[in-house]
Amino acid sequence: MIKGIITKGIGGFYYIQDRNGKMYECRARGKFRKEKIIPLVGDKVGISISHDDKGMIEEIENRETKLIRPPVANVDQAVIVFAVKRPNPNILLLDRFLVMAERENLDIVICFNKVDLSEGELNELKEIYNKTGYKLLETSTKLNSGVEEFKHILKDKITVFAGPSGVGKSSLLNATQPDLQLKTGEISVKNKRGKHTTRHVELLKLEFGGWVLDTPGFSSLDLDFVEELDLQYYFKEFEPLIGDCKYTGCKHISEPECAIKDAVENGEISESRYNNYLHLLKEIQKNRRY
Ligand code: GDP
Ligand code: ZN
Repeated sequence: MIKGIITKGIGGFYYIQDRNGKMYECRARGKFRKEKIIPLVGDKVGISISHDDKGMIEEIENRETKLIRPPVANVDQAVIVFAVKRPNPNILLLDRFLVMAERENLDIVICFNKVDLSEGELNELKEIYNKTGYKLLETSTKLNSGVEEFKHILKDKITVFAGPSGVGKSSLLNATQPDLQLKTGEISVKNKRGKHTTRHVELLKLEFGGWVLDTPGFSSLDLDFVEELDLQYYFKEFEPLIGDCKYTGCKHISEPECAIKDAVENGEISESRYNNYLHLLKEIQKNRRY
């Protein structure tokens, strides 16, 4: 049996690449349908070859993670890209991306791009996000700086990019190897009935090892599915302190002896992260009332 990864699926055909980059067109055995398992892009599979480059999916490895929109299995990490300038960083949006990626249980790297444009802005961002514990990357595709470290992070992983448009996601990917371009535009749009329809998503192979999704992830950023009391766990640096609050179920708003508010006061947690937590919490509470 040959081992490979599903890079694309169209109309019941799955396109599977083995580790050497050889592509096979496969169908899935009927048993998967009986077990209600639908093969997904990103699935690690075993295939049998019937003739030429055609075959059958015989087994699907257990999934480590599963993204819903776009539907992709086994994504290892999200690289969240923001520019230090042009466009100016919106940190509420950045924190929203972080919540989405945490919810999906992905490893997270924050990449500040266009560092050639502003040092001051970069330092402000670093001051806030150094305290989160996330790995931070500083890059400039203009100066070709940070690109080696960026490649190192992508190597042998399945990565989804996220971030607003215009921050340099495509340029970054292109700097690692030419001719790799992200598709822009919506990956998930609501149709007339309000249902999400998802465009086909494809994994692109990196020549130095690893895979990237060809479309940016998390185009839908509503927090519909986040429970009020879960939000705090999606703020990485809050998590270890939550047990120290006096009240179980503390939402860290105005409760007494709150470990999170203490940490904000003594500078362990940055104020902007805390304010954005409150902002997103309010948003969730407001939507619950309807
Ligand atoms: P995407 O929408 O996130 O994929 O962004 P693009 O890769 O299309 O880049 C948007 C614009 O930013 C383009 O005009 C790029 O040339 C420019 N750009 C990308 N990276 C940098 C950088 O490091 N420094 C500067 N000054 N401009 C950059
Ligand atoms: Zn608290």
